[in-house]
Amino acid sequence: MSGPVSGPVSGLGGARRAHEGILRRQSARESAARTYARALPIVPVRARGLTIEGADGRRYLDCLSGAGTLALGHNHPVVLEAIHKVLDSGAPLHVLDLATPVKDAFITELFRTLPPGLADHARVQFCGPAGTDAVEAALKLVRAATGRTGVLAFTGAYHGMTAGSLEASGGASDVRVTRLPYPQDYRCPFGVGGETGAELAARWTESLLDDPKSGVRPPAGMILEPVQGEGGVIPAPDAWMRRMRQLTADRSIPLIADEVQTGVGRTGAFWAVEHSGVTPDVMVLSKAIGGSLPLAVVVYRDDLDVWEPGSHAGTFRGNQLAMAAGTATLAYVRENDLAHRAATLGSRLLDQLRSLATDFPCIGDVRGRGLMIGLELVDPAGERASMTDALRTDPISPPAQGPHPAAPGLAAALQQECLRRGLIVELGGRHASVVRLLPPLTITDEQAAAVLDRLADAMTAVAHAHAVGAAPTDHPLIRQSRPAPAPPHEERP
Ligand code: PMP
Repeated sequence: MSGPVSGPVSGLGGARRAHEGILRRQSARESAARTYARALPIVPVRARGLTIEGADGRRYLDCLSGAGTLALGHNHPVVLEAIHKVLDSGAPLHVLDLATPVKDAFITELFRTLPPGLADHARVQFCGPAGTDAVEAALKLVRAATGRTGVLAFTGAYHGMTAGSLEASGGASDVRVTRLPYPQDYRCPFGVGGETGAELAARWTESLLDDPKSGVRPPAGMILEPVQGEGGVIPAPDAWMRRMRQLTADRSIPLIADEVQTGVGRTGAFWAVEHSGVTPDVMVLSKAIGGSLPLAVVVYRDDLDVWEPGSHAGTFRGNQLAMAAGTATLAYVRENDLAHRAATLGSRLLDQLRSLATDFPCIGDVRGRGLMIGLELVDPAGERASMTDALRTDPISPPAQGPHPAAPGLAAALQQECLRRGLIVELGGRHASVVRLLPPLTITDEQAAAVLDRLADAMTAVAHAHAVGAAPTDHPLIRQSRPAPAPPHEERP
């Protein structure tokens, strides 16, 4: 990307005024529910790959990637070419759910990528265009197929913002949803973490299903994320995933994998369920499958296909541009084995971030899978949670002491310092204390190094800002004396 911002205003001062005017009008006119726009006051006007350029001429490395949507980054040439091809062909852009060559090619490419065991018996339902629409459709499908209503869902889950998805998410509760513990090492609800924590979580699930007086009726389905994204970047252990598959299969409970965020190479496998070898009965897919345009589908085993004609309809199920962009994206990720690239680069980044964390006790945990990475910020001066020592069979793998309290203020400060340095990161987690990195799978080694540099620089600035009045080496936020960083440059290449 090059050149100044074009338009009626010229020069940097004019561009900045235009940028500020747009932001002012946004806060005056748009809903109080706006989210990303509050923490990221930027006005994107151009973007390519990892880079976004704002209306004020500033450039950013974008590790938010449309909340994990942009597997190939912004405006990848194969995506643009696919969109242009549809536009130039004169094909209709709106077709309800009619068959078209564009849709036919999308389904062929999608089915080619599906986990073995599902690919040969799969049906696909095109939903409304958002991930939450596909979650709704999946819940409705398993209810129709089983004749039951209850759903098993997990602590920390995020499945979307419409009524059914919301009740399956961790932030809400409803009588139709039974909440089960999602295994996690760092803040293990059993105070033990590791394999033992995951085993206890599985046993709790099993006992609820088998105890006739547990208060849980046989459910219509179980919905889970193989890696919780919004819940704070928490990968499910593969063995636990296999236990969930076994528990559900033995009891004829359809297993729904929500791969809205984890799909299309993000976690180091094309679909995150492949890590554990689990074949779900239903997969919920969105975000990257539309190649940056809105598209959502449910894929499911054909014996669940009990829909009556028209029982899950919708006007916007035939977005031809999204299907073409999605086909190009799926094919590019598959042909270039970008899942493998995500796995190797992701594990290198995790190592480097863990090494950074040794300098900053306020980085309580670094975790992730592939290019889905999170740093949990904590208050190292706060009292640690207690661990259940009696349960610890393996004293080495889980942390010897429990976690410090979450530090959402530090996480927000780190996000702002990153932004000042031209790096866009996401915040998430149960306590909004997890700084998340979701770079495109096409990120180069040099770009990854630049991301880490900016992040380390921002972390140093945050630690120093919170260390005011104390010698850096004495302060709990900084383990060794890191020099205070120079103020960030305003313009970045
Ligand atoms: N499921 C998961 C796992 C998600 O991460 C999200 C979005 N972050 C959704 C569902 C909902 O998708 P959408 O925002 O497109 O409705």
